[in-house]
Amino acid sequence: MKPTLNWQIASVKNIKPETTSVKTFTLKLPAWMRHRAGQHYDIRLTAEDGYQTQRSYSIASEPEREGEVDLTVERVQDGEVSSYLHDIVIPGDRFEVRGPIGGYFVWEASMTDPLLLVAGGSGAVPLMSMIRHRVASRANNPTALLYSSRSFEDIIYASELDHLSKTNAGLKIFHTLTRSQPTDWKGYARRIDAAMLREVAGPLGGSAQVFICGPTLMVESAANALVKIGIDSNRIRTERFGPTGG
Ligand SMILES: Cc1cc2nc3c(=O)[nH]c(=O)nc-3n(C[C@H](O)[C@H](O)[C@H](O)COP(=O)(O)OP(=O)(O)OC[C@H]3O[C@@H](n4cnc5c(N)ncnc54)[C@H](O)[C@@H]3O)c2cc1C
Repeated sequence: MKPTLNWQIASVKNIKPETTSVKTFTLKLPAWMRHRAGQHYDIRLTAEDGYQTQRSYSIASEPEREGEVDLTVERVQDGEVSSYLHDIVIPGDRFEVRGPIGGYFVWEASMTDPLLLVAGGSGAVPLMSMIRHRVASRANNPTALLYSSRSFEDIIYASELDHLSKTNAGLKIFHTLTRSQPTDWKGYARRIDAAMLREVAGPLGGSAQVFICGPTLMVESAANALVKIGIDSNRIRTERFGPTGG
């Protein structure tokens, strides 16, 4: 069995509220191994009666951080695992995880093409790992993140993104707020569409490598719009945060 597929017992080191419905869990891993930005872990929970359930969660932290990973989890209405993580789990708790998993939706600093990241909601998680990896490895490829959230309060990692965009040459952050906007809002205020993608992607040129992550419909419509504006589909990698489990 590949080492990443072995289950290990993670312990919760820290829990950080990101928004009212999103928390980041820092997990200490006894068998930590360096991940590639974009990969995920599986979490497996076991009840006292032996019932087991598992879900996938993307890694939010950069691969350069040793011994631990951040997983950022959005509470899903009546969600079995996300509600448990939000409501029950406290620092010091332990549960099974395996990973890092995934070899397609990954970006490494050795990939020097311009980078276009498109996120919807908690789809920002693996893209944040890529941005943190870009910063930690001092990569300087032109990079843009287009991030769609319902409201200003729903933006995950808002202050870190703001800080990074001011301190990192070549990193541009664009927000769109689809449901409500602050009165002085200067960003986009609609769902991601071809015109928006043209404005954001244009300066990166035709050789940009694209990663899109979020709800299935958002991912598909953004990928279709990018092809429509002339981006080669071979340069677009997608990850859908549909229900997992089993
Ligand atoms: C590769 C991968 C990476 C993922 N990474 C993350 C991550 O970084 N952060 C994160 O918060 N989630 C992530 N997810 C989604 C996560 O795995 C779970 O599906 C999610 O947390 C819901 O699990 P649950 O047990 O709480 O809900 P469930 O008990 O499985 O579902 C409860 C109800 O919610 C619906 N539902 C389930 N999942 C979703 C969803 N994602 N959106 C809307 N409705 C849903 C179900 O259809 C059901 O009606 C990822 C999924 C995949 C496949």
